[in-house]
Amino acid sequence: MRTIDLRSDTVTKPSKEMLESILNAELGDDVYGEDPTVDKLEEIAAEKMGKEDALLVTSGTQGNLISVMANTNKGEEVILDSESHIYYYEVGGIAAVANLLVKLIKGRMGVLDPEDVEDAIRPKNIHMPITSLVCIENTHNRAGGTVWKPEQIKAVSDVVEDKGLKLYMDGARIFNSAVAQNIDVRKMARYVDNVMFCLSKGLACPVGSMICGTEEFIEKARKYRKMFGGGMRQAGIIAAPGIIALESMVERLKEDHENAKILARGLKDLNFRIDLKRVQTNIVVFEVENSEKFISEINKHGIKASNFGKGKVRMVTHYGIEKEDIKYVLDTLETIL
Ligand SMILES: *Cc1c(COP(=O)(O)O)cnc(C)c1O
Repeated sequence: MRTIDLRSDTVTKPSKEMLESILNAELGDDVYGEDPTVDKLEEIAAEKMGKEDALLVTSGTQGNLISVMANTNKGEEVILDSESHIYYYEVGGIAAVANLLVKLIKGRMGVLDPEDVEDAIRPKNIHMPITSLVCIENTHNRAGGTVWKPEQIKAVSDVVEDKGLKLYMDGARIFNSAVAQNIDVRKMARYVDNVMFCLSKGLACPVGSMICGTEEFIEKARKYRKMFGGGMRQAGIIAAPGIIALESMVERLKEDHENAKILARGLKDLNFRIDLKRVQTNIVVFEVENSEKFISEINKHGIKASNFGKGKVRMVTHYGIEKEDIKYVLDTLETIL
């Protein structure tokens, strides 16, 4: 029996073209700045985001930690959505390693209200920490892969700029956001100081994320990356599939979004509780009575999903999941019910 793994788009395997690109990659020692394949990937990533420079990092988590640190000083405060990946899923690195205070505010479907951001910024006062950074997440993972529209980013950016803070975008799935809205990713990136995105999710690379920003920011980030053991030598073997991802895997995210919509509508038809408004990209979250039991039941039929807590189940469509797989999932659920 074939396994249909819908736990995450991180389970994607590299395409044959990607694997071949690894064999043929021109390599050097990237810590010495001598890997031409890494240089090329960083150039393409910066160009795609409309930023001066870019840096290959090992993971999205490392990229977020490095970026948060390169944007702040110890003891300062960072404004974050209470359901953000940085707060929720990154082992508390923002406190343990970056030594920052977090100020949590609640977004609506992952999008922060600029007024809430403004209210959360500390006034200049001898007793208070300095607020120096606002982080947004696009697409928003826990909200169900929901997108920030460019004008929503601009609205927060206006507040942030006015107060002299920095704005950072955890854009792990930023290309999903761009493709879903049918816009150039630069339309969103232009309003933030710096941005991270993952190569290893829907873009199907085996490893890697990119940070993009000003040359000055990337220089600082490179130093932190080295500190965290992320200075990699012949990293061209990671960068080569990254180049293919940016050149030929972005547009196909549309298929994942279509599959997610088919899945979501099918679940609705089977009377699962699901908020279709939230199914904007490749993530489908729905409710069951007992998520643990539900997941172990579908496992028996070769289907994997994530337990999202409180009776919520998450399914993510991705490269390697076809329309007939979605049909199989829906047919199976109908039978089980
Ligand atoms: C996956 C994810 C990350 C972290 O990426 P890893 O490569 O798994 O460390 C960060 N932010 C968001 C929103 C994510 O979905």
